[in-house]
Amino acid sequence: MQANNHLHKISPEKVVRGEKAWEEAKELIPSLCNKPLLLGRSNCTYEIRKSLSIELSSMGLNVVHEELNHDCCEIDLQRISSIAKHSFCDAIVASGGGKVLDAGKMIANRLNIPCITVPLSASTCAGWTALANIYSPKGSFIKDEILEKCPKLLIFDYSLVRKAPKRTLASGIADALAKWYEASISSGNSNDSLVQQAVQMARVLRDQLLIDSKTALQDPNSDAWIKVAEGCALTAGLIGGIGGAKCRTAAAHAVHNGLTQLDFKKKSLHGELVGYGILVQLRIEELLSKNQLALQTKKQLIDLLIDLDLPIDIQSLGLKSYKKKELEKACIFACRRNSEIHNLPFKVNENTLMEALLDANKLDLISSDKKSNR
Ligand SMILES: [Zn+2]
Repeated sequence: MQANNHLHKISPEKVVRGEKAWEEAKELIPSLCNKPLLLGRSNCTYEIRKSLSIELSSMGLNVVHEELNHDCCEIDLQRISSIAKHSFCDAIVASGGGKVLDAGKMIANRLNIPCITVPLSASTCAGWTALANIYSPKGSFIKDEILEKCPKLLIFDYSLVRKAPKRTLASGIADALAKWYEASISSGNSNDSLVQQAVQMARVLRDQLLIDSKTALQDPNSDAWIKVAEGCALTAGLIGGIGGAKCRTAAAHAVHNGLTQLDFKKKSLHGELVGYGILVQLRIEELLSKNQLALQTKKQLIDLLIDLDLPIDIQSLGLKSYKKKELEKACIFACRRNSEIHNLPFKVNENTLMEALLDANKLDLISSDKKSNR
């Protein structure tokens, strides 16, 4: 018999998804609020947010606009929370990528008002979950925070998400793939039936991504695109909701968190670093458990990452410096106390991680012609 109780925050209260989801779902918003704060960030989503705002205003809502200046960081969270509070906003409509969605959820959580998420890419499952990552203003990961609840309403409008750059979908695929690689190793032996089922869902999602990702990226009007985009933005969130805290992240996200401590020439997306983190995790498994299955799995994964134009070697991550001294900072952060890396079933220290980080893609089985195509 299980000794402990488990609290799950499985999904948003309502999810509206489809080609014109916004058209249908916007009608639900006036019953949730009178004065929403519409949160966004990048210039490239400005026009979309402007049109959402015009439509909300035409339904009689008094819309307040704010933009993040940085990633989801404490300075922005405090500034915008204060504006929302003093303007008497009664909901947050977060419209953008993962960091905007996370910030919107956190502000709504702090003010105890509903959050409506409108993802403008399929780069993460942040529109779904009751979790948010907090970064420093320069983009270094600080911590993740568990929120009171999932969003009140998630609007996944294909026509809006399709406008996002290709790179965001590739990044979302890597992040969604990590669900299987991390949950299967951290929770694969769990006796908890919900955790077991969540891990199996992650496996089915991985298989679907292996089959459909290439077509999805090539043709945004294909059925494959819908399956893959929803897999990344919705199913990945559902897996986290069902599996709960026990269906945990492991080394792939720990590597991401460590790498964000470094300086970048060209900023990488969350999933681009997580994808490399999966390779590092598989390399750690090879080094420490001599797991031959990991070797096979890795070959399959590397082929997919190459197809999606995602980084498979450390030099492609966009870092300012690849000196060992610099990379050590990432390893120390990734191996700090309470890091997800310690969810692995064997002990990992900074030295093993450094070794895995430097030659994550090392695999005699990889055909050299495919590698040299990059
Ligand atoms: Zn992630």
